[in-house]
Amino acid sequence: PRVDNPYSGAKVYVNPEWSANAAAEPGGSRIANQPTGVWLDRTAAINGVNGGMGLRDHLDEALEQKGSGELVVQLVIYNLPGRDCSALASNGELKPDEIDKYKTQYIDPIAAILADPKYASLRIVTTVEIDSLPNLVTNAGSRATATPQCDTMLANGNYVKGVGYALNKLGDVPNVYNYVDAGHHGWIGWDDNFGASANVIKQAATAEGATVNDVHGFITNTANYSALKENNFSINDTVNGTSVRQSKWVDWNRYVDELSFAQAFRNQLVSVGFNSGIGMLIDTSRNGWGGSARPAGPGPTTSVDAYVDGGRYDRRIHPGNWCNQSGAGLGERPQANPAAGIDAYVWMKPPGESDGASKQIPNDEGKGFDRMCDPTYTGNSRNGNNPSGALPDAPLSGKWFSAQFQELMRNAYPPL
Ligand code: BGC
Repeated sequence: PRVDNPYSGAKVYVNPEWSANAAAEPGGSRIANQPTGVWLDRTAAINGVNGGMGLRDHLDEALEQKGSGELVVQLVIYNLPGRDCSALASNGELKPDEIDKYKTQYIDPIAAILADPKYASLRIVTTVEIDSLPNLVTNAGSRATATPQCDTMLANGNYVKGVGYALNKLGDVPNVYNYVDAGHHGWIGWDDNFGASANVIKQAATAEGATVNDVHGFITNTANYSALKENNFSINDTVNGTSVRQSKWVDWNRYVDELSFAQAFRNQLVSVGFNSGIGMLIDTSRNGWGGSARPAGPGPTTSVDAYVDGGRYDRRIHPGNWCNQSGAGLGERPQANPAAGIDAYVWMKPPGESDGASKQIPNDEGKGFDRMCDPTYTGNSRNGNNPSGALPDAPLSGKWFSAQFQELMRNAYPPL
């Protein structure tokens, strides 16, 4: 029997491997005891890569950390065929048509481990397939932003089938809580993406034997940088009669921050048939935007752009920028029940782990080189042809990036 909010009254698992990396950094002990997501980012991660911890090792350690109380373990299910179809930095090991391998070599073994009665007392949160389904809406078909890889994944149906299969199998384990990835406001907050993304998520959640009852909730902003709450302006503000929606930064989006988006998207998901009890998670690992560049109050009302740009906490060059963003800081510390409709703020992306390499680095994980991670890149249609805003000298996605970790601590908000 699942509880309504697994985070209520529970500790959350601290990944010893991430914790050791954090603690080894000057000043890192201030956050090394925070819970972060465990990413099962390839088949080999189930048993552990290069002598590292595998899934059973994590669950055994979770039982230790749990003691006699309740404990949530946060797993990221991330290995779809044709993964990361609109970018290259996190392309995966499975080719677009390898849906059978996804099912039998990845999802089935994970589901079998999670179903071990030994782990029945854990509350296992699975966040399912980051950055996948909305790509079928925004980066495929007739959109100017379409990529051939996303067109392929739309046509072969393997994102929809893979997510459906994962939700169905993982949802059969009574102590698993499935949260489906729901992008972030700077991606699906526009009218032509919002409803359509909810619809494709519903389609996936009712594919391959899954039902809406396999979905406990949704996660937004995973590994992204969208500010939680922009206090210096709201979507309803106007400047000399011009709506903030007409500013360059907002560009007709309906949402200016992640909390308002997550709450509204929750309602949309309920309206398309998800259970009214669903809860949202928001990844606040890197959306703090503190430090000396944080505006102390609203911008001047000389123009709508001056007002928005002068007041916004999110200092990105463009909200479509996603790789190792310069100037970012740690966001709200992980916590349960922070706001209406929100089950928890979580650090699903482990702070200090890179989003992608700044240059091509050969590897055996299928990862490509995406120029959005190159600080000299001047952009593409998905970021309005703006500079990437990425930090230099980054390692491959998932690898430890000390300079970024240090900046995230410096620019933490709330400050450390
Ligand atoms: C990478 C994964 C990594 C995860 C967490 C993703 O961008 O592709 O390999 O595990 O980030 O750092």
